[in-house]
Amino acid sequence: MLSATGIQKNYGQLWVLKGVDINIAQGEIASIVGPSGSGKSTLLHILGTLDKPDKGQVSINGQAINFLNDRQVAAFRNKHIGFVFQFHHLLPEFSALENVCIPGWIAGRKKKEVADRAIHLLQTLGLGDRTNNKPNELSGGEQQRVAVARALINSPKIVFADEPTGNLDSANARELHQLFFDLRKQFNQTFLIVTHNEELAQMSDRILHMKDGNII
Ligand code: ADP
Ligand code: MG
Repeated sequence: MLSATGIQKNYGQLWVLKGVDINIAQGEIASIVGPSGSGKSTLLHILGTLDKPDKGQVSINGQAINFLNDRQVAAFRNKHIGFVFQFHHLLPEFSALENVCIPGWIAGRKKKEVADRAIHLLQTLGLGDRTNNKPNELSGGEQQRVAVARALINSPKIVFADEPTGNLDSANARELHQLFFDLRKQFNQTFLIVTHNEELAQMSDRILHMKDGNII
């Protein structure tokens, strides 16, 4: 599902990624762990096409990203890639349902089809009765589940999560882990997760240790 080779990234004099190779299979749940500043977020952004490497190639679902122009990358990302961040970045003026629908509208899909899938996802995530609430009317765990539903609205090939439980208490964190595994079971969903959560890392199929810009 994901294949990247020789990924390098510099910020001025700072050599942040030193030639990372990584392969993730369809339906795999892999965790990246490592000290703060080791390059985890930078790597995730590059793999998720939010940022470009200085050297190296990223392929997702057989599509080599470096062959696409910026507009094509943006369209590919919206259609095939889902993101969950530590801070969910939900839009406060929109309802839970609307927040989930937005990437579907951007993809130009039919409104009815998008709404049906959004409702199905919110129900699956235990938020069937919260669809019309605004983010500030939801708990932290509920908001994070809305963000997960939003990440899944276009049935992405792969979901990248950067410390998704960083902002949750341990009960909510455990629920989110369970959710990832349920989604894998239901949709064969692929996940690459940066986490400090030992429990989540231990549950995953594979743990990738990052240190000083390399996967060791
Ligand atoms: P991690 O997620 O593992 O904590 P990051 O990928 O966020 O690490 O950062 C790796 C290193 O790159 C850090 O030293 C950080 O300060 C630096 N860095 C990250 N983004 C930028 C940027 N946009 N400009 C300059 N330096 C950056
Ligand atoms: Mg980080």
